Amino acid sequence: MKTYAYGFPRLGENREYKKAIETFWEGEGSEEGLNHTLHELQANMLQIYASAVNVFPVGEMTAYDPMLDTAVMLGVYKPKNLQEYYELCRGAGALEMTKWFNTNYHYLVSDFSAVKSPSFELHWNKPQQYRERFGKGIPYVIGPFTFLKLSKGLSKTQFKSALEDLTGVYRSLFTSLQEVHVDEPALVLELFSDEIEGVKKAYEILGQSAKVHLFTYYEQVDFLKQLYDLPVASLGLDFVHGIKNLQTIKKYGFPKDKTLIAGVVDGRNIWKNDIRHSVETLKALSRQAKSIWVSNAGPLFHLPITTEGEHLDSRLMGNLAFAKQKLQEIGTIAACAQGRQKVKVPSDSGVRVLGQNKKVQTRIKTLTTKDFKKLVPLAKRRAIQDKILHLPSFPTTTIGSFPQTPEVRKYRADYRAGRITEQEYNAFVQREIRQLMKFQEEQGLDVPVHGEFERTDMVEFFAEQLDGVATTANGWIISYGTRAYRPPIIFGDISRPRPMTVKEIVYAQSLTNKPVKGMLTGAVTIIAWSFVREDIPIKDVAYQISLALRDEIHDYEKAGIKIVQVDEPAIRERAPIKRGDWPKYFDWAIKSFRLATNTAPETQIHTHMCYSEFGEIIKQIDAMDFDVISIESTRSRGDIIKNFERIDFKKQIGLGVWDIHSPAIPTVEQMKQVAQRALRVIPKRNFWINPDCGLKTRGWPETEASLKNLVTLASQLRHQK
Ligand code: GLN
Ligand code: ZN
Repeated sequence: MKTYAYGFPRLGENREYKKAIETFWEGEGSEEGLNHTLHELQANMLQIYASAVNVFPVGEMTAYDPMLDTAVMLGVYKPKNLQEYYELCRGAGALEMTKWFNTNYHYLVSDFSAVKSPSFELHWNKPQQYRERFGKGIPYVIGPFTFLKLSKGLSKTQFKSALEDLTGVYRSLFTSLQEVHVDEPALVLELFSDEIEGVKKAYEILGQSAKVHLFTYYEQVDFLKQLYDLPVASLGLDFVHGIKNLQTIKKYGFPKDKTLIAGVVDGRNIWKNDIRHSVETLKALSRQAKSIWVSNAGPLFHLPITTEGEHLDSRLMGNLAFAKQKLQEIGTIAACAQGRQKVKVPSDSGVRVLGQNKKVQTRIKTLTTKDFKKLVPLAKRRAIQDKILHLPSFPTTTIGSFPQTPEVRKYRADYRAGRITEQEYNAFVQREIRQLMKFQEEQGLDVPVHGEFERTDMVEFFAEQLDGVATTANGWIISYGTRAYRPPIIFGDISRPRPMTVKEIVYAQSLTNKPVKGMLTGAVTIIAWSFVREDIPIKDVAYQISLALRDEIHDYEKAGIKIVQVDEPAIRERAPIKRGDWPKYFDWAIKSFRLATNTAPETQIHTHMCYSEFGEIIKQIDAMDFDVISIESTRSRGDIIKNFERIDFKKQIGLGVWDIHSPAIPTVEQMKQVAQRALRVIPKRNFWINPDCGLKTRGWPETEASLKNLVTLASQLRHQK
């Protein structure tokens, strides 16, 4: 029984990755310098692997994104140097970015929509280069099926011929490599039978051109048995998030000619492995498979690098395993499974002791259907709210945040580091709010916001204030490119010791007669961007957060706030990979939103969503029973409107008319086009005018110019007959 590990985080313990690349972007480092750091990071990674497991891949390192590297390897894009490579990542003609499976990692999407018949060649033999340079490890590639499946703009027939074409390119690549680690996570998606046939045909050929270790993860492979006849050397399967893989193998056995690479150590969550459970899984597998390697279940880059250096409560620390600790676990499990080491049953349930809150538990237990259902129906609420709010038709608003200038960030950092006092900091935030309120008044926005200057991140900000949630000092993970964030750890029962946002919102309201919109992050999004405890059902975690949010909204109401927005941008992304699991997920996701916003009918409840395919979940969104939704639409401009055509959507909606991810200033005409197309489907009286998303990444000049146009658009629409 060997041990194998892959997908170790590339960020570096001190985020050397980020620093080196960003220095290069700033024009301060050379291409050689950057390559040198990347190679160092790769060497480091290999050393970490080698100290913990027997076998591992080489060539996982990338200057930005492994999916883009695959595209370059195959000649889809041909940047001549790193400068040109980064043009594809973040230049004017940058590729679209989208979520990688159901994770919060974003990859760059290869786009074939302008290509009649895509053709490929081995343009860059990256795996070969890495193997030669480092002299150890199995060359790593992303497989042809996953690459194509996650690209865009290919018709069904194009896909089929592209896969055949690619098989040829991969064959010569594999022949030169002799042994290869191939990632094919797309095999866990719900595929059509002709896609499955395509996969089989490809690997029928590829399996014979090298020793192929074929990896799947994040879920089970629904057609696993059909892979049994392929001539590959081993199959990597996820036994943590793909429980059914185990059932399939128990039922049908496992081919004698293959190694089973058993992913038993969770690559998605930070809790210590239940060694006894993993050993049992391995024992069950050994009855069927002749050769087994113990491995992680899915790449480890969704985890921070190490728990060393964190100063969390010792009982919590005792339950954590980040990427490095997971590598150790792989070794321990293999040793225990072979009887070389005794299984140590963890003595503590420390986390549970640490996180208990009886009051919260009782609140959850005593929830009834009434908590999840508003007493006053939508139309009646509308009538009540209209009388209170007196908004014009086509009301204008923004999504919440305003430009986070270097000054804002500096003040926040200074406060965190104790360089300025709480009073100084609060005075600064108040000053920012004051200026913003004046700005919005001058611009003529109908529903102003306070600007979110006090928030680093829409999840971390709440995590820091909630009991039962911990935040780390150095637990960074990459969300895309060099962008990293620190997911909070939900370890116990969640409660709100004191109001979290009321002070700022109420201050903003005190400066205007217009209704200020209070800003909260919803439970699903907090869960999606955190590491979550697994000892109680996820729905209970969501309801706990929602109760805290409901209390917050009650405090708003008492202080005279009339509009509240609960952001849920992650609602689509958190949905399970398999559609069969959707009903259960959406049940708690929808209910948790309803629970949080089950407040007085006088309070207008907004939500906001962005950057996902919402078309397929419009019905679920509708069931959330808010009053107003603002939704991003640049991604699928026409499509999303078509989806609203399909259902009788009665709620108010603001379809983003300004793509805030671009510094370009939209003209009144451009925004009008978006609005008018939408107005064919959505009644005028239900239509709001707003940007796509928050403005925190924008600069002030374009914010001012764009909002001016946005307000002009609203006034033109009002006067149009
Ligand atoms: N209210 C948040 C903001 O404006 C929403 C961000 C988001 O949708 N990701 O920044
Ligand atoms: Zn958004």
